[in-house]
Amino acid sequence: MQKLQGIAVSPGVAVGEALVMDNEGFRIPRRFVSRDAVEHELERLDEAIKAAGTEIERNRDAVSRELGEQYGAVFSAHLQMLRDPVLRIELDGMIRERHYSPEYAVSRALRRYAKVFQTIESSYLAERANDVIDIEKRLLRNLLGRRREELDHLISPVIVLAHNLTPSETANLNRAFVRGFATEIGGPGSHTAIVAEGLEIPAVVGVGNFLTDVSGGDLVIIDGDHGLVILQPDEETVAHYRYEVEQHKSRAVQLAKLRELPALTADKVRVELLGNIEFPAEVEHCTDRGADGIGLYRTEFLYLGADCEPDEEVHYRAYAEVIEKLEGKPVVIRSCDLGADKVSFDPEAAKNPTLGLRSIRLSLKNLPVFRTQLRAVLRASAIGDVRLMFPLVTTLLELRQAKMVLADVMEDLDDEGIPFNRELPVGMMVEVPAAVLMIDHFVDEVDFISIGTNDLTQYTLAADRSNKDVASLYSSADPSVLRLIRMAVEAAGRKQVPVNVCGQMSGSPLYTMLLLGLGLRRLSVTPSAIPEVKKVCRTVTIDQCRRVTEHVMSLENARDIKNYLREELKKILPELVP
Ligand code: PEP
Ligand code: MG
Repeated sequence: MQKLQGIAVSPGVAVGEALVMDNEGFRIPRRFVSRDAVEHELERLDEAIKAAGTEIERNRDAVSRELGEQYGAVFSAHLQMLRDPVLRIELDGMIRERHYSPEYAVSRALRRYAKVFQTIESSYLAERANDVIDIEKRLLRNLLGRRREELDHLISPVIVLAHNLTPSETANLNRAFVRGFATEIGGPGSHTAIVAEGLEIPAVVGVGNFLTDVSGGDLVIIDGDHGLVILQPDEETVAHYRYEVEQHKSRAVQLAKLRELPALTADKVRVELLGNIEFPAEVEHCTDRGADGIGLYRTEFLYLGADCEPDEEVHYRAYAEVIEKLEGKPVVIRSCDLGADKVSFDPEAAKNPTLGLRSIRLSLKNLPVFRTQLRAVLRASAIGDVRLMFPLVTTLLELRQAKMVLADVMEDLDDEGIPFNRELPVGMMVEVPAAVLMIDHFVDEVDFISIGTNDLTQYTLAADRSNKDVASLYSSADPSVLRLIRMAVEAAGRKQVPVNVCGQMSGSPLYTMLLLGLGLRRLSVTPSAIPEVKKVCRTVTIDQCRRVTEHVMSLENARDIKNYLREELKKILPELVP
């Protein structure tokens, strides 16, 4: 058994068979064969090695012809490895003595070799690990043939293990079969993490190199509550986690009873509890849990995974679907927040994507695209309670420009006789420290603000939200971030501008008392977090929250703050503290 610590990004636990995704992920369906099948399996291995050898020879000859012998030599090295008698003896032994299937034997043996190369401190040898993985893939392809099961065509439950998953790859995971996932890289605030939470798939990111320690078909546990990945767990551990899975289910059933009850504090202060969504299908995840509406609709996900640029109709249909499902409840549609770790259009982006052309900056540079979206939002405003929000607003000028484009689009619709809500509420995300510092001006020019703690944390602490190596620095509980939140809430309060928090922070019950104590009465959270946050709201009084907040604001670092909040939550709702 091997226990690996990563970063917990999506809660829940999952026990299942690994599907190891490299560039090309496919799954080993069986790990063991019966005693009488051994001879037949050895023959299959023999055929696969021969077929793989022929393929490599073909590649070598083609490359040598085109580019010269020296380039073909790479393939000669592959052939040597493939036909290495020591490897063959090891594989035969695994099949004959341990009754491993040839697929499992190939994966186990070659991953062990790759691991050795990887751990040697030489970049040349580390590269050789990729050659070994390449041979593994080639052999597996030949062994599995058409029975190969790839991520796109799963037929039974798996746990996906990958070096990295992009937000759109994550969004396309088949929830019916993917029970959980873990990645080697990735940080706590990445959009991959956010999508995993939205899809309610237990997930751990930033585990570091571990893919060579695991083979497809191995039993794996993902503990999304504690950020653990457990490879080849022993029986006792499996039993413990199977019990945990049941516990999660029964806790969800208990919390589901809160569905019809409002988020009302013990001293009868109403808190508006909204959901964050990426896809129209998630609206039900919110309404099923009694959300008061959608506080953040991340429309950029219309672009992710799409073959072409979404046109006005694509936008409109998505918004209309959300509105219809909400049955009169409000939705805050955020204009596209593309760029950074989602999809980038900036050729310079590779250097510093989070500080580059993203979000409202990108929209203002691509006016036709921006206008298309605004037209769809305005049309949607005629059929439901729609509000519009701009992301990553940094300067007043930017906000004014965005509002001018909106006014212009309104004029066009007027000329065309297309109905829309003239009083469409317009708000902005507050997620850049510059915007907080100028917040007293901003609140004069918007109908509402929504504090995006994910980006606010990243920009305040200069710590990339997607980078595991600075994950310990990246904390929304840092006192500097909390001071900025307090500034924004107070400025909004003075002008009676509604203020919301929609970053991941608001979805953690750990922070509910703190946020209420800071004066927030509107929280927009990951749908799965609605019941727990509501439970905290219904348990506490505002006075109690204010006392907690006062103490928090006197502390000097994120660790002390989190520990204190954990203790406070434990006093009132111990079952919510993992
Ligand atoms: C945020 O930054 O807190 C936020 C809600 O927006 P996103 O996570 O989509 O950047
Ligand atoms: Mg943001």
